[in-house]
Amino acid sequence: MHPVPLAKLAFNNYFTNELFSSAVNNLKNDEHIDYAIKLGMLLKAFVMSFQSSGLTDRNNENIHYIRRPCYEGCPNGTHDDQCQEIYRKRAINAPEIEAMLNNIENIDKTICANGTINVPYILDIDLDYFHYEESLNPQDTSSFYKLIQNASINNYC
Ligand SMILES: [Zn+2]
Repeated sequence: MHPVPLAKLAFNNYFTNELFSSAVNNLKNDEHIDYAIKLGMLLKAFVMSFQSSGLTDRNNENIHYIRRPCYEGCPNGTHDDQCQEIYRKRAINAPEIEAMLNNIENIDKTICANGTINVPYILDIDLDYFHYEESLNPQDTSSFYKLIQNASINNYC
């Protein structure tokens, strides 16, 4: 007999519970991520954002906010509106994705090593991450495509 993964058991039990289903329907924005972590359905979340403030902490030590001051290789000591525009236009360009993965690796090497995420993961991208048309057309798509190709919902589904 194969052991049933704990996460799968929790998922089944919670979704047959009417109260749980009712609560899930009332979750807004990214509250479902916080809720899933608190229930043990997800291990951690890494949130990449251009915002340096105003993000909801949710009092969850397993949600890590990755904030970088500017685009990879910016030569300016003080980051102005012009370099922030460049940063947003390079949102999913390979050097930016690789820098974010490096930040995740610095937080938890069991999750990310050598620029590769080594655990099953959900890739959730909000459309408001793309501020410019150029944001959708990176010069180097390799790292972003690798993120998409290796993503999975859940190994147990
Ligand atoms: Zn800058």
